[in-house]
Amino acid sequence: MAPVGKGHPKRDIIVVVDPGHGGKDPGAVGSKGQREKDVVLSIAQLLAKRLKREKGFDVKLVRNDDFFVPLRKRVDIARQHKADMFISVHADAAPRLTASGASVYALSEGGATSATARFMAQRENGADLLGATTLLNLKDKDPMLAGVILDMSMNATIASSLQLGSSVLGSLQSITSLHQKRVEQAGFAVLKSPDVPSILVETGFISNARDAQRLVTARHQQAVADGLFEGLKSYFQKNPPMDSYMAWVQEQKKAQA
Ligand SMILES: [Zn+2]
Repeated sequence: MAPVGKGHPKRDIIVVVDPGHGGKDPGAVGSKGQREKDVVLSIAQLLAKRLKREKGFDVKLVRNDDFFVPLRKRVDIARQHKADMFISVHADAAPRLTASGASVYALSEGGATSATARFMAQRENGADLLGATTLLNLKDKDPMLAGVILDMSMNATIASSLQLGSSVLGSLQSITSLHQKRVEQAGFAVLKSPDVPSILVETGFISNARDAQRLVTARHQQAVADGLFEGLKSYFQKNPPMDSYMAWVQEQKKAQA
């Protein structure tokens, strides 16, 4: 609800797009030499371009060129930019060459537990634990209470990530076959922000000849980027941050209905 006599804040929703791998880390390599790090950079750049065109969205790329970024740094970049969501783009290899199609991951509960443990350890070391405005006050709380708050935040974030993930899976369905029809959960380090809904999208398997062949084409890269965009836009239409332009648009729609 906008305060009386004041305009709605209408801020942009900030999306941090993370092209996996880069630099000394090529990621997976296809049978014809297709490199994951190149494919995912192209898709991420197209997604960023699409987001920039959309009113109400702002976007940051973790890397906009071929260089190496440590996993932990990727999470830090999302937090520095006060991201509303983080999306890591991949096209990995599977042991089975016949494995094909897209899948979407959110952090698992097990992963959440160890991330909490990691953050707690950092707190003990006196580091500015989260840098997140909503959680910063943990410093003065006793360790037990801080742990409970962190767990709650992490669980809420995982729930949002799962919703976001299924929205993205839904829109990818018309573009590519799906390897998994449900959002999978695993302990990816890159997804361990306690307060930023984060997903990792495997856009296909570079180890699969047919996937790899498609993934290097500009046309398919554009289609995947558009699919990712539609999925995250529809998530935010249903779950707009309160002070965002998107929330304002949804309020206007309700007022007119
Ligand atoms: Zn990867």
